[in-house]
Amino acid sequence: MSAERPSAIGQALLAVGDQWTLLILQRAFLLRLRRFADWRDELGMSESVLANRLKEMVAGDLLRPVPYREQGRTRTEYRLTGRAVELWPLLVEIWSWERRWVPRRHGLPELVHDDCGSRTDVELGCASCGRAPVTARDTETVRQAATFAQVTVARLHRRTVRADAPRDPLSYLPETFELLGDRWSTVILAAAFLGLRRFADFQAELGVAPSVLSSRLRAFTELGVLEAEEGARPLYRLTQKGLGFFGIFAFVVDWAQRWYEGPPGSDLRITHRDCGGPFVPYLRCGSCGQPLTRTGVHFVTADRRLPPLAQTG
Ligand SMILES: [Zn+2]
Ligand SMILES: [Zn+2]
Repeated sequence: MSAERPSAIGQALLAVGDQWTLLILQRAFLLRLRRFADWRDELGMSESVLANRLKEMVAGDLLRPVPYREQGRTRTEYRLTGRAVELWPLLVEIWSWERRWVPRRHGLPELVHDDCGSRTDVELGCASCGRAPVTARDTETVRQAATFAQVTVARLHRRTVRADAPRDPLSYLPETFELLGDRWSTVILAAAFLGLRRFADFQAELGVAPSVLSSRLRAFTELGVLEAEEGARPLYRLTQKGLGFFGIFAFVVDWAQRWYEGPPGSDLRITHRDCGGPFVPYLRCGSCGQPLTRTGVHFVTADRRLPPLAQTG
């Protein structure tokens, strides 16, 4: 039985590696949405898709249903669970990466650090030693066994095509969806952070069909996350943009391995070379250098100030 269980990362990606799920979570954080009609109207989702995602998110312990009374009727609202609340730095890191690397027509919201008052960006740090900034090159990712890639459980639904995504300034995640919204994309990227470079090595490590692997590698090359070094056997290397995705990768790995249990030996271990300790990611303010907290930051858009990322059960 346990041999069939996906790795912690695989389970986490099944839970949150979906465009609509990420957008529902993001709106719960940014706008404190809790009610069906609010997500439906804000995201323009069909009721059946929304109902399906909410059901999955309750089953996956990301949302907790809470009854409330309205006009004499009992209805249900949905609050973030403790597990879901811990996704806040991942969402902020996604914002930071998209802002830096993905050209767009509409401006992104800006992040304000309340303590120093700056409109700022974030820096990735190592919670083991406190140092920041930390980049992919300052760390080493190792696997205990190849089973980290055991994420091949069938998805519950097809992944949503990116063109369907709302295009308002808050729905700022287009390229992240390409990278996180598909289980193979994410494990291929994870394998790249492990140091894999050759087509045959990706294939052997991941057990992925050659056609799937070549389509993903092509997509990553087009996104500018990987670059192919031509030759008889091309090498695929992470570009600066791909290396920049390390923060998102690290927050996914950290969250996954704290909240999900995979088969023995299936975890990834990320080490911070400077301190030799486990790399536990945290975010600090790019302006004042202080660690950020969930309730100590908020976003502002062109026309509104959003509350702190504080919606909790
Ligand atoms: Zn460290
Ligand atoms: Zn600050």
